[in-house]
Amino acid sequence: MTGEVREMRTVRVELGERGYDIHVGPGLIAQAGKYLEPLLRRARVAIVTDETVARHHLPALTASLDEHGIAHDEIVLPAGESTKSFAQLEKLTEWLLETGVERGDLVIALGGGVIGDLTGFAASIVRRGVDFAQIPTTLLSQVDSSVGGKTGINTKQGKNLAGAFHQPRLVLADTDALKTLPMRDFLAGYAEVVKYGLIDDRDFFDWLETNLDAIKAGDDAARSYAIVKSCEAKAAIVAADERESNVRALLNLGHTFGHALEAATGFSNKLVHGEGVAVGMALAFDYSARLGLCPSQDAVRVHRHLERAGLPCSLADIPGPLPDAEGLIALMGQDKKVVDGKLTFILVRGIGEAFITRDADRGTLKALLGEREAA
Ligand code: NAD
Ligand code: MG
Repeated sequence: MTGEVREMRTVRVELGERGYDIHVGPGLIAQAGKYLEPLLRRARVAIVTDETVARHHLPALTASLDEHGIAHDEIVLPAGESTKSFAQLEKLTEWLLETGVERGDLVIALGGGVIGDLTGFAASIVRRGVDFAQIPTTLLSQVDSSVGGKTGINTKQGKNLAGAFHQPRLVLADTDALKTLPMRDFLAGYAEVVKYGLIDDRDFFDWLETNLDAIKAGDDAARSYAIVKSCEAKAAIVAADERESNVRALLNLGHTFGHALEAATGFSNKLVHGEGVAVGMALAFDYSARLGLCPSQDAVRVHRHLERAGLPCSLADIPGPLPDAEGLIALMGQDKKVVDGKLTFILVRGIGEAFITRDADRGTLKALLGEREAA
């Protein structure tokens, strides 16, 4: 420690007896034992992580557990989206049983959204449910996937199609962990941060415009503030609608477009999820502006901000061939949020004013998505 103030802040997810704290700040992995100890029925935990995260952050976690006399078993899985599979779920579940995990024991997910989603799902089924804690190490997992209790894996039919709602007991979002995260992964998470401003918090979007450079440069206070605001936004939505019957759908701003673009690029490195969301949010603003719902200056501001962050914000920014407008619309129809064959769109009346709609003007949509060649 260098003597500067390194503060922690806490966001509460209000879900009655399933409620929990999200602690945000620097140095939390190295103090994990202190925060986990009060949650433990007995002094032992199982840690699930991936190879990359293990290299950077597992030693600090195990050292802290040792300090607090908490015994630990670890499993280190391959890094990457393909780990969210039935094969890895089987391996993890059987490993947890072999370590002797009991009802009331705690499993720790140390890693990004892949480890969090898989571990949460395994924890939800092992002995019909054991506790788990999230120690998210990517920006995306700190502001999004570790909060709200959606867990799961991918199947050959698509992404996140098997899973469960299982809330963690605690989330420790250590801002120091982000220092080892590659910039492209950082920015993919940043797209979700921007999303919270665009949904219902224009002041937060203004703040992001002012503080983008500090956030990118690694300023602890700015990053903590952005994460806290994001977690507060997600926590409020989750508390209002845990199982996505209504307002939780707002969190899908940019996602219907984004998922179609991810599918069109084969869920490959050409366009990672957060980048698809960035383009999707820009398209949602463009679409809303064309429908006369949103001032076009707001759409321009969104484009500018994403661009300045270093995120893609138009179809022309995506490498390689894309399907035509009809093809993209067909891919949107594959989205798991389709109900009775109707697309749900999150549109906007401006920055900070998103709303849910189920009737999309196909003609305008087609025109918008057909413009890549012209661009
Ligand atoms: P990820 O877990 O694959 O992490 C991205 C990469 O960064 C991995 O290679 C990982 O090993 C590496 N990494 C993680 N932390 C690091 C660190 N501190 N330093 C260096 N490298 C690090 O991906 P992600 O972007 O965190 O999460 C994506 C997943 O989250 C997707 O599967 C998505 O479906 C899921 N998700 C879930 C929810 C939810 O509500 N449950 C919400 C959004 C996304
Ligand atoms: Mg997302």
